[in-house]
Amino acid sequence: MTTAGAWLALAGALALTATPVLAQGSRPEVVPGGVVRWSAQGTTSCSLGGRIWAPLGDTCYFPVDLLATGTLDLGRTLGARDETITVKVGRYPYPEQRLEVPDRMVDLSPADQARVARENARIAPLWEREGVPGFSLPLQPPLPPGFKGDRFGSRRVFNNQPRSPHNGIDYKAPAETPVTAPADGTVVLAEEHFFAGNSVFVDHGGGLVSMVFHLARIEVGVGQRVQRGAVIGHVGSSGRATGPHLHFGVRWHGARIDPSLLLGPPENLPALGP
Ligand SMILES: [Zn+2]
Repeated sequence: MTTAGAWLALAGALALTATPVLAQGSRPEVVPGGVVRWSAQGTTSCSLGGRIWAPLGDTCYFPVDLLATGTLDLGRTLGARDETITVKVGRYPYPEQRLEVPDRMVDLSPADQARVARENARIAPLWEREGVPGFSLPLQPPLPPGFKGDRFGSRRVFNNQPRSPHNGIDYKAPAETPVTAPADGTVVLAEEHFFAGNSVFVDHGGGLVSMVFHLARIEVGVGQRVQRGAVIGHVGSSGRATGPHLHFGVRWHGARIDPSLLLGPPENLPALGP
């Protein structure tokens, strides 16, 4: 184990990132929905919450689920040596967002509830995938330059009723704007869902699955290999949407994280060290 003092995050990296590791006492804090990295030459595996995965180069990236609380044990293996850092999950920093949608999209009929349950059962296994990494960071934004996504983590209140927090980012964009794959990968789900509308899920290997929602049209099929930048659909307003926009989300090793963190240089992610 390394001493507590060594856990102080790199100040230079902190200034550049939206999800700093806040040094507080001797135990570093991580932000729900954020990512921290831990690098050392000779790293052979990374682990968190019972999952084990391969590092990217010499770096373990630890995604912190949006709904994580308490403490997390971040693990790595260096040759024959196992190391663990226990980090504290910090406060939930995201604001509230109030939206008005048709009542049937908030108070679901029994048939719609059953449909959502079926769709969730189809999606859940995707978060277990841990293939060979087929991507590199940063990812390519899903829309052409000039569009900016936001509102990750906002606490959603639909028609005055609190619902799940927003686990992706929304890009306001005109209908029919082409939507592209953020990295090479394989389409693992491409279908219409109650809330997400026309949706495409791409497995990029390395435990990373990206998703785009509310499409006007889907341009790919399940099992299809796509390359970074390939058109996979077009912006629309299908599903629970108040107008044309793109919802872009990622799950990494099962965790809901802010996808915009993966669209910038990975060196900007907060680091644990050494
Ligand atoms: Zn959204």
